[in-house]
Amino acid sequence: MLETIHHRICPLCEACCGLEIKVQGGKVTSIKGHAQDVFSAGYLCPKGVALKDLHEDPDRLRTPLIKRNGTFVEATWEEAFAEIERRLPPLLAAHGRNASAVVVGNPSAHKIGLLSYFGKLARALGTKNIFSSSTLDQMPKQLASGLMFGHWLSVALPDIARTELLLVIGANPLASNGSMWTVPDFKGKAKAMQARGGKLIVIDPRRTETAALADAHHFIRPGADVYLLAAMVQTLFAEKLVRLGSVAAWVNGVEEVGLAVAAFTPEAVAARCGIDAGTIRQLARELANTQRACVYARIGSCTQEYGTLASWLVDVLNVLSGHLDSPGGAMFAKSAAFASNTAGKPGMGKGVSTGRHFARVSGAPEVFGELPITCMAEEIETAGPGQVRVLFTVATNPVLSSPNGPRLAAALDTLDFMVSMDIYLNETTRHADVILPGLSPLEDFHYDLAFPQLSWRNHARYSPPVLARTDGAPEEWQTLLKLAAIVRGEGAQADANALDDAQFAEDAQRLAGAQAAAVIRATSGLKGPQRLLEVALRTGPYGDMFGMKPEGLTLAKVMASNSVGGIDLGELQARIPEMLRTPSGKVELAPPALLADLARPATDLARAAPDLVIIGRRDVRTNNSWMHNLPTLAKGPFRCTALVHPDDAQRLKLQDGAMAHIASGPRSIQARVQISTEMMPGVVSLPHGWGHDLPGARLQLAAQRPGANLNALLDDQLRDPLSGNAVLGGVAITMQAVAQEA
Ligand code: SF4
Repeated sequence: MLETIHHRICPLCEACCGLEIKVQGGKVTSIKGHAQDVFSAGYLCPKGVALKDLHEDPDRLRTPLIKRNGTFVEATWEEAFAEIERRLPPLLAAHGRNASAVVVGNPSAHKIGLLSYFGKLARALGTKNIFSSSTLDQMPKQLASGLMFGHWLSVALPDIARTELLLVIGANPLASNGSMWTVPDFKGKAKAMQARGGKLIVIDPRRTETAALADAHHFIRPGADVYLLAAMVQTLFAEKLVRLGSVAAWVNGVEEVGLAVAAFTPEAVAARCGIDAGTIRQLARELANTQRACVYARIGSCTQEYGTLASWLVDVLNVLSGHLDSPGGAMFAKSAAFASNTAGKPGMGKGVSTGRHFARVSGAPEVFGELPITCMAEEIETAGPGQVRVLFTVATNPVLSSPNGPRLAAALDTLDFMVSMDIYLNETTRHADVILPGLSPLEDFHYDLAFPQLSWRNHARYSPPVLARTDGAPEEWQTLLKLAAIVRGEGAQADANALDDAQFAEDAQRLAGAQAAAVIRATSGLKGPQRLLEVALRTGPYGDMFGMKPEGLTLAKVMASNSVGGIDLGELQARIPEMLRTPSGKVELAPPALLADLARPATDLARAAPDLVIIGRRDVRTNNSWMHNLPTLAKGPFRCTALVHPDDAQRLKLQDGAMAHIASGPRSIQARVQISTEMMPGVVSLPHGWGHDLPGARLQLAAQRPGANLNALLDDQLRDPLSGNAVLGGVAITMQAVAQEA
């Protein structure tokens, strides 16, 4: 039987590696890195190999499920849509639009069909109750970037190919290959930096894999990043080290920042950080005195009570040390398609705003069109106008991934109707009335919509489907359009392609005006997200402008480059002021909301730090909870252990390998102890996304080693007030040994 070779971008994490996949007789026979890939040059991690496991997993859903008398039964797509049409419209009519909610998970960021069509379902529902995993992860970085640079995805990235000093805070790119930074083979790039005389410094409460590679590592108390960063900024002002470099003409608010951080001296914050004042000053001096340097911080600095402040101060440091938008510093990618910082008038825009509406129960403000995911349970539980009675979930498992998962699980059971789009019957979708299966990544075409905006190098890559879809399965964008049609009362029989044509014609008229007919003609033969991609590429910064720049990009050209690893669009280039979309046309270094929020850490500095706190951690073999069900990733040592420093273990009488009871407020779990000098004393680490022992889920391999659910321990009322992001790290706990059974 003939073996075929396919090239496919891996969708399993933000690194977006190019893979080479061999197929014979409809079966994947091998997966390796695509050596010619212009972006990842042959790199892959174990998760990429596990795409085969995911495709072949007997637990992966291939047909819709409808819950009948408490039991899921297989159904056809027609039956599933008919069931939704029977039950949904009467509920929307009776309770109103805001009685519905939508929650979407991070796999959707890797699927152009979900990402570009999810909004059509949300708009059809007309609800303000939009939730996503963004408020468990990166929303603080997006908000800080939006306030400073004018758009939510204008995130400054380390130019690792040219830097001489990379200061990494609360991130483990050696395990993640970047987060809000798409950087496959971070390890290779960091080693290359070290080989040319550069330096990697890591600040983290755990001696992570990245810290082990670093030239220097400093432990920091979880939640103290804001203090360290503010004290470094204060040092730059105090020691007259502020230099704005090439962006000097484009920065507002330098003096205001200097005044705002004046009280955060290294001496004032040293004890809170667990880092002495001399080291804090030295870090600031090194940053200022290195020609090509950059600060990068991620999930640890985002998922804490001052997440937006910490994310902001990272870029304040990059600006004040002269490293923003400078080769080897913190730069901006220029994406070939879909980037708002390449659209409209260059150098100026509307900026971002928050609080256009508020959560009904907590009053938390909307951010980037979303409410905090940690508000979801109370919005379902709390009676009154706007109480959520209907829920759509898309590629998400918040019962395991969101704080106070048990409370959310109980709330889901009280809904009148729940529809899930997912590839698994998991701990969340078990509560659904109808589950509509998503596609295996190998059945879908791929173009990354978001990650080229966060990439270490500019590129355009497209992957066609590797394997045929299951008979009768719609594409995911078609499923979302059908759901939107049911919501609008157009019925389950509505034709998704016709709906898409009508919507595209409307959009073309709105965006292209007199040219609309020409755009529709030029894209005929395409549909769905492929058609959107064609328009975005051709009108993007490298595009052919529909023939006006014949050498420019088209979808056909990007498709044709698949076998040679895509199109390289070069190293990062200076983009200020062209990429700015703030109303002033400047980098806003001192957004008033952020200056005002500094009052919280200033006051909290007097608060006694808890004896013992918990943080999460990243492992190269897991990213989403369903990865625990894939044999390639699940094998090997048990990974859901509570890492405890030997001094804490001795003090608390904890034994290596034994179970411990961990409590935080009224919530508690039990987890296996692993004693480790990786940990800072007083800090315990447990990975999240585990706890696969709940009845009704169908993740059979994961259930054999279920692990403990960190999120069952965390408080869903703890949030960063600006971004609405959950507080997942630095949470106070107590810990004691579980008595051994005789
Ligand atoms: S690092 Fe691994 S999971 Fe991430 S894109 Fe590359 S191969 Fe896939």
